[in-house]
Amino acid sequence: MLDLRQVARHFGGVRAVDGLELTVGDGEIVGLIGPNGSGKSTTVNLITGVFPLTSGAVFFRGQEISDLATHRRLRMGIARTFQNIRLFGQLTVWQNVWVAQNSQEDRAGRGFFARWLGGQAHARDEIARLLEFGGLAHKQDELAANLAFGEQRRLELARALAAKPKLLLLDEPAAGMNSEEIGQLRERILSLRQRGVTILLIEHVMELVMGVADRIVVLNFGQKIAEGSPAEVQADPLVRRAYLGGE
Ligand code: ADP
Ligand code: MG
Repeated sequence: MLDLRQVARHFGGVRAVDGLELTVGDGEIVGLIGPNGSGKSTTVNLITGVFPLTSGAVFFRGQEISDLATHRRLRMGIARTFQNIRLFGQLTVWQNVWVAQNSQEDRAGRGFFARWLGGQAHARDEIARLLEFGGLAHKQDELAANLAFGEQRRLELARALAAKPKLLLLDEPAAGMNSEEIGQLRERILSLRQRGVTILLIEHVMELVMGVADRIVVLNFGQKIAEGSPAEVQADPLVRRAYLGGE
């Protein structure tokens, strides 16, 4: 599904990502972990095309996408959520999903109004399903800005799913959540995988990432320092040292 080959991104002298090899197989849930500043969000930004690569190549479903614009990658099936929530605060919950659905649509080349008229019922059903999945159906007419934090995170997820992704990149989705919300997020992630969505999960909350990931990749200073099953990675002395700092 996803294949990063010797991917690097430098910001001036900072090697945010430095020669990273990372693959995510079809239907897999891969956890990407590492201390703060280790290059996790930069990796997401490179996969989605927010920044150009300094060197290396990114392949998606066998096709090189290294130079494609973000919206083209989205159309191919790569969607993401942000570490710092980005919603249209002055639009309603429903409108936020509607915008996401429409900004990536139109593969058939139909005009906006034709879609609006012809696809409206179908689109509404789809939005209703996404809001249901996110536990937001009862909030559909609220402004996004007025949602509680956990609800905003769920709206981000619903919005990412509106693009019908094959690969979903989640950048610290559990940050700031309580343990009940984390449990619900875990169920949602597993349910998405069952529906065929491949997931790269960046996460600091170890109980979540260790519980759902098939495989874990550990970054430190932009480089992969370990890779393996959750148990293997947790037992790895290099990983322990990176997290505990020092020695
Ligand atoms: P993580 O998500 O693992 O906490 P990041 O990928 O956000 O780490 O950052 C990795 C490194 O790259 C950090 O040293 C950070 O300061 C730097 N960095 C990230 N984005 C930028 C940017 N747009 N400009 C300059 N430096 C950046
Ligand atoms: Mg980050």
